[in-house]
Amino acid sequence: MDLTTTPEQEHLRSQLREWLRAHLPWEYGVGLPPRFDDLADEVAFGRRWQTELAAAGWVGVTWPPAYGGRGLGPAENFVVQEELARARAPELVGRIGVNLAGPTLLANGTDAQKSRWLPAILSAEELWCQLFSEPDAGSDLAAVRTTARRRAGGWELEGTKVWTSYAQFADWAVCLARSDLDAPKHKGLSYFVVDMHAPGVEVRPLVQLTGEAEFNEVVLHEVFVPDDQVVGSPGDGWRVAGSTLSHERGVNPRQLVIHLQHLEELLAQAAAAGAFDDTRLRRRLAQAYVEVRLFQLLNWRSLSKLQRGLEPGPEGSVLKLYWSEMSKRLHALALDVLGPAAPLWRDASGNPGEGSWQRSWLYYQAASIFAGTNEIQRNVVGERVLGLPREPLATEARS
Ligand SMILES: Cc1cc2nc3c(=O)[nH]c(=O)nc-3n(C[C@H](O)[C@H](O)[C@H](O)COP(=O)(O)OP(=O)(O)OC[C@H]3O[C@@H](n4cnc5c(N)ncnc54)[C@H](O)[C@@H]3O)c2cc1C
Repeated sequence: MDLTTTPEQEHLRSQLREWLRAHLPWEYGVGLPPRFDDLADEVAFGRRWQTELAAAGWVGVTWPPAYGGRGLGPAENFVVQEELARARAPELVGRIGVNLAGPTLLANGTDAQKSRWLPAILSAEELWCQLFSEPDAGSDLAAVRTTARRRAGGWELEGTKVWTSYAQFADWAVCLARSDLDAPKHKGLSYFVVDMHAPGVEVRPLVQLTGEAEFNEVVLHEVFVPDDQVVGSPGDGWRVAGSTLSHERGVNPRQLVIHLQHLEELLAQAAAAGAFDDTRLRRRLAQAYVEVRLFQLLNWRSLSKLQRGLEPGPEGSVLKLYWSEMSKRLHALALDVLGPAAPLWRDASGNPGEGSWQRSWLYYQAASIFAGTNEIQRNVVGERVLGLPREPLATEARS
């Protein structure tokens, strides 16, 4: 693993830094992104920011130029992500499209599908969501019951999806549904692109621990999906969904960026609060620094595999497991640094960070659930990385 950057990568870094100095909507290195009480305002702001970033070619740098990318490698993408983190740029509002739907379409879509959807993903002109989970199909995703029945020229979808992040803002969704009721569980699934504005799509917001309704229940009632919106062949949905999941768990520049930002803010907050004078907090702050650095190194290890043309594979689960637990420790420490201010909420006076740490602590309780729970990641690591005996199926366990 060679971690030195090339002169070309350093040139890219300085180009982006220069662009950010000129275009960040706040003073580079000093200000922070604005905070919004209303999610819709935050999404509108995020859309404007991503459109500007994409117009300058800083979104999806690994994508082919034909679809709005720069055709660069994963190492260059990392350089870009690091610089965005340094500038405290906000997360991409179109991240489900950029990080999940887009790469799945690039790997499995037809040329027509790529030309239709990819450019608008980068520019945030169209936002995407992921219609995978159902009330009885989360960890056991292949158990999805949403049906897709053959109709002239396409399919008709019927079912209920749940925990769909950003569905209320999405124009399109990637969706896993059962197209063959007689085929074995993993073989009867197909992968669809659903128009979120189509008749029969109903989005019902669900309020989370943070008080926001970022995710939703989505009811699909007689929703027509034309044949040219099937990704891969009918019946090939489980394989295509695997491609989406590997992007969710593999290399994770996004969480690295977020946690580098969190760490920097935490250390600044700790210095301001005099937390380094407290031996116990000082040790934990040093530990947090080491852990974020280890997360960076784990990312780089996966990155060096990608650079050599290899897939991150089941080791992606090690990374997901590590960051989700690291994140919870870091947020718990942040609240301890806040001390008596920890139970305060947004508008309270004497609340350093104005509630952002409290919100973040609540949000990251979900880190060990989304993109596959930690129990599932442990199963993957045990069985597919360490080669331990396979977990008994529910039917075997009962007998
Ligand atoms: C913030 C957030 C955003 C999300 N966004 C989306 C989204 O946009 N689109 C989408 O499709 N989904 C989304 N999800 C859903 C997420 O993928 C599921 O919550 C997750 O896969 C777990 O499924 P479940 O909630 O049905 O839990 P279950 O699968 O019912 O699991 C319940 C518990 O049982 C444990 N368990 C289950 N099976 C096993 C096993 N074999 N061995 C050991 N333990 C087991 C689990 O670890 C868990 O603790 C989101 C979830 C969250 C929290």
